[in-house]
Amino acid sequence: VTRGRSQPHQFVLFITYLAQVNQSLVDTEKLLNEPAEVNDKPGASDLTVEDGEIEFDDVTFSYDGRTTALNGVSFKVPKRSSVALVGESGSGKSTILRLLYRFYNIKDGEGRILIYARDIRDVTQASLRKAIGVVPQGRYYSMLASDITSAQAAQMHERILSFPDGYGTKVGERGIRLSGGEKQRVAVARTLLKNPLFYSWTKRHDNRICRRTLVLKDGQIAEQGSHTELLAKGGFFASMWAGQISSAEGCEDRSVETPEI
Ligand code: ATP
Repeated sequence: VTRGRSQPHQFVLFITYLAQVNQSLVDTEKLLNEPAEVNDKPGASDLTVEDGEIEFDDVTFSYDGRTTALNGVSFKVPKRSSVALVGESGSGKSTILRLLYRFYNIKDGEGRILIYARDIRDVTQASLRKAIGVVPQGRYYSMLASDITSAQAAQMHERILSFPDGYGTKVGERGIRLSGGEKQRVAVARTLLKNPLFYSWTKRHDNRICRRTLVLKDGQIAEQGSHTELLAKGGFFASMWAGQISSAEGCEDRSVETPEI
């Protein structure tokens, strides 16, 4: 926010967890602190911002060589769009994040992950990590990072500076008394300061995230579509949603176009 954001973001990736109610949620911040098991290739170069997309291309992955955590997962996140990943516990959501963060390398012949058409095995970890921002999960965090225009971000910056602890302000349930939207903005603004290319977003559910949703089941993409399409289909997602999100309020499909942040 303070740096001036002349470089438009190319991608926003939202990862939404639709987990069991009361179940502990995967914390992407924690995930980011896990030790990576891979090293940079000799001569690996930095990931640079170019036109393109994120692509999981037929990715199969096993942690232990016996059970399959992901099985032939393919999806694309086009420029300025977002995708939500949902699925029950153990369906593979965190594994997708871990592979995107490259905590593990995908084995030869078991698919690949491309960012801006570059295989992430060929880029430096530091540049990849730098490109990923995390908006911490929390009850109040219901505003999408992509919904913040630079004017709103600037406005929020002023407000944040007026808090006693500025950007160090604690948000969330034990945080200072802010409106839900304000808490959200502090969290988002803090993430924006990192200037990341991607935002990963972890939350039990968020009925504002009504973008293209990939439904994971047993390490495979079982269904995909907009929230409304998936509900109309009356399949796995619909039954998960009915069982878990009884309080969901009017969810409208959003355009895949995501405004620049
Ligand atoms: P949750 O919503 O509970 O976080 P998830 O959808 O994120 O679940 P993953 O953590 O991706 O699920 O797990 C996918 C599969 O991989 C599961 O069968 C899980 O048991 C297995 N798995 C996950 N992490 C490991 C690990 N470190 N070692 C071995 N197997 C693992």
